[in-house]
This record gives sequence, C-alpha cells and structure tokens, in this order.
Amino acid sequence: MAAPTPQLGDAEWRHVCADVALVGRLDAERQARLRALAARFLATKTVTAAGALTLDARQRHVLAALCCLPVLEFGFDGLRGWSQLIVYPDAFRVNRSHHDDATGVLTEWEDELAGEAWSDGPLILSWRDVEGDLDDPEGGCCVAVHEVAHKLDLLDGVLDGTPLLPRDWQRAWARDFQQAYDAFCADVDAGDDRGIDAYAAEGPDEFFAVTSEYHFSAPALLRGAMPAVADHLHRFYGRSPFA
Ligand SMILES: [Zn+2]
Repeated sequence: MAAPTPQLGDAEWRHVCADVALVGRLDAERQARLRALAARFLATKTVTAAGALTLDARQRHVLAALCCLPVLEFGFDGLRGWSQLIVYPDAFRVNRSHHDDATGVLTEWEDELAGEAWSDGPLILSWRDVEGDLDDPEGGCCVAVHEVAHKLDLLDGVLDGTPLLPRDWQRAWARDFQQAYDAFCADVDAGDDRGIDAYAAEGPDEFFAVTSEYHFSAPALLRGAMPAVADHLHRFYGRSPFA
C-alpha cells in the first residue's frame, strides 16, 4: 500500500502565507505546489532545534516552506542527498583551518555564520537570521534560499556556482555567470557599490547563492545590476514573488 500523501492543513498553510511574504505573494497554483513540497519536506526530513532553541509547529512549517521555495520549479528531487535541517538560535561559530601546501603554514580562524550547507550532511540555519529575513522580505537577504542554493549547486558533485542543468543551459549559465562574476569582482575591487552584497565576490559558489537571495527578495535590483544572471535565475527558480 502506498504511503498517504503528507499534508499541511488549511489553517496551517494560511499561517505560512501570513508569516512568509515570499510565499504569500506567490500565485495560487505555485502556492499549492509549494504546500505539497513543504508537507513532503516535513514528512521526510528531520528538523532539529539546537542549543536553547525550541521550534513550534508553526516555525517548522515556515522553515519547510522557505527550504522548498528554491525547488518550486526544479522539484523535490533538488533536495536529495541530505535529511536533516539543524536550526541554531542565533548565528553560530565554526572553526576553520587552511593548510598552505607551499609554505606548510596552517592557518586557523573562527567564522560566524547565519547558515551552512554541508556537502554530504545537514543544512544549518540560524533562527534569528531567518526571522530577520521574514521581517524584511524585500531586503535582498534570505539565508534559507542561500543555503539551499548551495545544496542545488552540489547536486552535480562540484560547488562551482553551476547547479545541475541540461547541458546546453549549463554551458550558457557557466559563461554568463563567469562574466558577471568577473565584472562584479572588478566593481568590488574598485569600490563601486551597485547594491549587491560584496560577499558574492567570495567565489563563484557564493555568487550564485547571494544572487539567488536577490532573485527572490530584490529582483529589480538584481536585474538592474546583472540582467543575464537575473534571466537564468528567473528560468531556474520561476518568477520572483516580488517581480
Ligand atoms: Zn554561502
């Protein structure tokens, strides 16, 4: 016997639409698809509150909807390969190290993160940062979208700013993103601020994740700054809720 299709009730879904402007502004057809994806997310992935945080059902539903928003067009398969969402109360510290093979020098430092996506492990978010995004839905930030973009990037085995796509599209994507990334890095180096977070210059992977946040929460800004990237993201994620 097939397992019953997981559901999110009408009242529960109304809460999600009220709490998350990015969801509330979707048209009815896309909302219905997102609702089914979010229910499947809750049925198949573990949502774990870490530290002193507790998460009620309403918060879990919000998290599930945010994590599924980037796969609205790609499909639930875009979330394969991991099963756990860990949510910290606030930004969290991680220890980093880098060994320079040429000099033999080991550098260690601490990073403070709002989210993290492990290549073969959980997705991690800070609830305080998620809440900040909900309070300012058109502010250009959405940490859940950012981390899921990294997961989509990893589907082809390499974190390089190009997700799993049909071959021709992947080639065009890689070319257009590389051009836009090079131009963006040159702007950042020159101190030329076009409103896109300079963190996008950290690498092609961060460039994809950061521009994904703008696609959802500040699409006009993204389109004005880098139209070719905006076109690819529109095709990949579907129409922005704020377009
Ligand atoms: Zn990132």
